Amino acid sequence: MTEHHCKSCDTTKPLAEFYLRADGRPQRRKCKLCVGSANKIARAALGRAQKRRTPEELAARKAANLQRLSAWTAAHPERVKAARKAAADRFVKANRGRVNAGNAAYRAHKRRATLPGFDVWITAIYDTAQDLGLTVDHVYPLHGKTSCGLHVPWNLQLLSLSRNSSKRNTAPRSI
Ligand SMILES: [Zn+2]
Repeated sequence: MTEHHCKSCDTTKPLAEFYLRADGRPQRRKCKLCVGSANKIARAALGRAQKRRTPEELAARKAANLQRLSAWTAAHPERVKAARKAAADRFVKANRGRVNAGNAAYRAHKRRATLPGFDVWITAIYDTAQDLGLTVDHVYPLHGKTSCGLHVPWNLQLLSLSRNSSKRNTAPRSI
């Protein structure tokens, strides 16, 4: 595809006259010229509208918008809940390593087994585990039968899931 049709000026033009996405396809169905003039018209209209409003009017509009938003939020709890859940799921999917590191930090904090200042390092370990398809294991378990390990980088190792679950809460043999 070397040409594209602009539906605004109804002209077929070379691709260079369109804003392109990373994959080389046009971003939208308007050429640069038409996008530019549409923006210019919109800015001019906005300018005129803003000039006519006093600061008080603008503040009142902002308050009214916020009120509408919170009324809508209150009226649609299930949609708000679903949207929040969807956003959280997207985050977890995109940041699995970070989420795993955060969950582990939370459990370690509850057991008072963590030292401050290692978050970035520990998160990198969890990210690496995620990338390699491995799990993060505490060499000395956080709540072992005979010892209590710390949630610190030097007590973490990468294990396969099966290896990690067979290890359970056992500390290294040498102690
Ligand atoms: Zn055009």
